[in-house]
Amino acid sequence: MSNVLGLKCVLCGAEYGQQEVDYVCPKHGNEGILDVVYDYAAVKRRLSRSDLDKCRDYSIWRYSELLPIDRRELVPPLQVGWTPLYPVQRLRALLELPNLYVKDDGRNPSASFKDRASAMGIVRARELGRDIMTAASTGNAAASLACLAASVGLPTYIFVPERAPQAKLAQLLVFGANVIMVHGTYDQAFDLCLQASAEYGWYSRNTAYNPYLSEGKKTAALEICEQLNWQAPDKIFVSVGDGCIIGGLWKGLCDLRALGFIERVPQLIGVQAEGSAVLAKAWQEGTESITPIVPQTIADSISVGVPRDAIKALRAVRQSGGQFVTVSDAEILDAMRLLSRVGGVFGEPAGVTGFAGLRKLLELGRVRPEEHIVVLVTGNGLKDVQSAIQAVGKPHLIEPDVGALRTLMAQLN
Ligand SMILES: *Cc1c(COP(=O)(O)O)cnc(C)c1O
Repeated sequence: MSNVLGLKCVLCGAEYGQQEVDYVCPKHGNEGILDVVYDYAAVKRRLSRSDLDKCRDYSIWRYSELLPIDRRELVPPLQVGWTPLYPVQRLRALLELPNLYVKDDGRNPSASFKDRASAMGIVRARELGRDIMTAASTGNAAASLACLAASVGLPTYIFVPERAPQAKLAQLLVFGANVIMVHGTYDQAFDLCLQASAEYGWYSRNTAYNPYLSEGKKTAALEICEQLNWQAPDKIFVSVGDGCIIGGLWKGLCDLRALGFIERVPQLIGVQAEGSAVLAKAWQEGTESITPIVPQTIADSISVGVPRDAIKALRAVRQSGGQFVTVSDAEILDAMRLLSRVGGVFGEPAGVTGFAGLRKLLELGRVRPEEHIVVLVTGNGLKDVQSAIQAVGKPHLIEPDVGALRTLMAQLN
């Protein structure tokens, strides 16, 4: 049995048993996002730091005492999580940050951070005996659901906005999802998907709306602290769209603090694209109510006009003493080049936005050189090759003879 006590509404604090509600607080409709509450005393009896030293499950399930999971046999067979945390030597030298790390979550089964959440959602669906899942996504959440669902034979219906990059669409189709392309934005696809879930009884993997997804996402924070030998870093930089990842990271850090695994918590730095900065704006204005916009950014995975996990995200930044920062599309592409060429890690635009945020704070003099910093890369660069080409240009084209090569080499030198 899991160590979950129940679910608590982030707006009114009402608590529910896990059997009472599937998704959101009945009093607040889609805004009543729920948070999973644990019996930390029970977790403490079952899990210590030294238990983890002996654990050989190098995936998110190594933390199953801290996850809402009752039946271990229902986890998908693919390896989700325990992604590498690189001590990026060349970037450290270049940026004069000797304690910088990059965690590459592009190394997950479907090549994005979203696998942490999808894996959790699938276990929950299977425990409930639900046999079809649905999601709306700008790409990665859906690709991730399709991938992990394929590994356990669960059919999916996926709603995507028309603008989703080709590679992400290809992933959906390859994994056999039923893909419904919506002539509209991500936000419109999201709302349609919720209606479909109600009408057909499909289990919803929609971000924030399904409270179990945050729990999967928090595992990245658990990993970061364990990989750093329980010395929590000073700052964690992460890109923000709906706000579910950053909210999840905060949950993981609070869990570790409650268990006494870490003493202090890092500042969470949420990084948004300038053209999709609803949460950064709300944070700046000191409010928890958001003003929807029509988003515009090359970073499709964080192109969100109506952030669904606003409250958890804003509280994560505020309570951790962190901040929001915004970056332009040009800065995102520049970050992609630098992280690839000096770090060897290739991220999609939203994947490297956290890194662009670090460079922004460096420029503003808001990072001290001795600080321990983790940058999360949330998605692999091959997800959006068109943006990558835009960032780096085209190769040299020559005739297949050595004379042409010599001419070129002379031009280059
Ligand atoms: C979804 C996603 C994000 C943002 O996560 P939110 O929970 O929406 O804030 C960032 N990067 C990538 C690659 C993503 O797929």
